[in-house]
Amino acid sequence: MQYCYNAPMILDPWANVARLNPTETRALQNQKLQEFITQQLYPFSPHYRRIFDQQGIKPDTIRSIGDLKHLPFTSKADFVATPEHPDRYKEFALQPDKEKINRFWPVPKKLRLLASGLIEGKQVAQERISREYRPCFMTFTGGTTGKPVPFLYSIHDINNLYVSGSRMLQLFEIKSDERVFNMFPYAPHLAFWQVVFGGFAECLTVFSSGGGKCIGTEGNIGAILRMRPSVIMGVPSYVYHVLRMAAEKKSRLDSVKKIVLGAARVTEGFKAKLTELLVSMGASDVAIFGTYGFTEAKAAWAECPTKPGVSSGYHLYPDKEIFEVVDPDTGEVKKEGEDGEIVYTALDTRCSTVVRYRTGDYVKGGIRWEPCPYCGRTVPRLSSDITRLSDIKGLDFSKIKGTFVNLNDFANVLNDMEAVKEWQIEIHKKDNDPHEVDEVAVYCTPKEGVDRGRLEENIRKTIFGATEVSPNQVVFVTLEDMVKRLELETANKERKILDNRPQ
Ligand SMILES: [Zn+2]
Repeated sequence: MQYCYNAPMILDPWANVARLNPTETRALQNQKLQEFITQQLYPFSPHYRRIFDQQGIKPDTIRSIGDLKHLPFTSKADFVATPEHPDRYKEFALQPDKEKINRFWPVPKKLRLLASGLIEGKQVAQERISREYRPCFMTFTGGTTGKPVPFLYSIHDINNLYVSGSRMLQLFEIKSDERVFNMFPYAPHLAFWQVVFGGFAECLTVFSSGGGKCIGTEGNIGAILRMRPSVIMGVPSYVYHVLRMAAEKKSRLDSVKKIVLGAARVTEGFKAKLTELLVSMGASDVAIFGTYGFTEAKAAWAECPTKPGVSSGYHLYPDKEIFEVVDPDTGEVKKEGEDGEIVYTALDTRCSTVVRYRTGDYVKGGIRWEPCPYCGRTVPRLSSDITRLSDIKGLDFSKIKGTFVNLNDFANVLNDMEAVKEWQIEIHKKDNDPHEVDEVAVYCTPKEGVDRGRLEENIRKTIFGATEVSPNQVVFVTLEDMVKRLELETANKERKILDNRPQ
């Protein structure tokens, strides 16, 4: 017998979940956490089963969000293959079998499975279980450090990808008759697919161009002019590049109302620059949205519409995950609104699954639980002021002592500078000698007619004011060379901050 599934009509409880009060939300999360740990994670995850057993953690003692602190953190290093364990990532996938289901599932859950077998036939019941757990899709971690790691999805996880995509599109208030231009790079990365599945879920007209790599910048501009989308989505630096090229061609983009950016940090200064560019091409009432997501969660989160210059924060999905904010040094859990590292725990994944996963992302302003002042939803919101901890670099400017520099502060300064068209930061060793000190170079494409001497002085002064570090070199390059340096048309990731020191 063959089974054929149509694209599912998923009943998403979002409308209800997004209106619960904090007590109800926490109760829901506690209940989901208990069920997930005792009926999915501990029984079926080879990795976590081993960790629980080694550390003597009884799965039924994890009953609430507060109990999470008894579980060890999971980090990127835990997935990375070693010569002894070449397939470590597989250990994170939930892998049920008859014996484990019999042993760990509560009687009512087993009875439901049995009833399904009696009513629909054994084969259908087995197929249901397979579809819930069998990998059928994957995306990869970015691989900025080390080898990319695959994250596996089952049909259950794909259904969740529809759900998170649909929730994001609702947050952006995109209506069913709007047209969406998806410029995320076609790659086995979350961003592209999150938009594709979100579009399916909401039954929207989405054109996924694949970014610069697939149809080139000319191709993207031509397609935008023909399609006249109201929404453009993509990686910030590439969206900005395409819009800038369109502006140079004197194109009119008056259909565009919303820009959705993902896969990289977006500052309010950058949003303002993008808005100005769109307005110069005839657009009005433009809203720019940031999103946040990572491979390991197999989902992304979104801002809702606000007035310019403010962010609502990312609206979280409390029925799908638990977020904690912890001290990056001590691991201690922070209170509401406090800064720290973002830690993620899945509540509803099936294939690759992580709990207490340290994202390596540092959030200023933490998580807020008061209702969103802009859309009224009551889900917890994660501040959008997020930097990668790996962008805070230990630099040796002298041979005597090292300095920690947050390169995002460099980025903020350069993003906000009117006279700077495009920029890149590069760290390298002096004279390319591995035994020498570190140097920071700022590559910069100035606007036409700008006095370069004065601009260089301004860049040095402003960066020093923000970071107490002055760049070693400020190098002016043409836009053409900068596009190559940034690999704007070919890369899957932003290359605004480069660390070219030998590893
Ligand atoms: Zn909101």
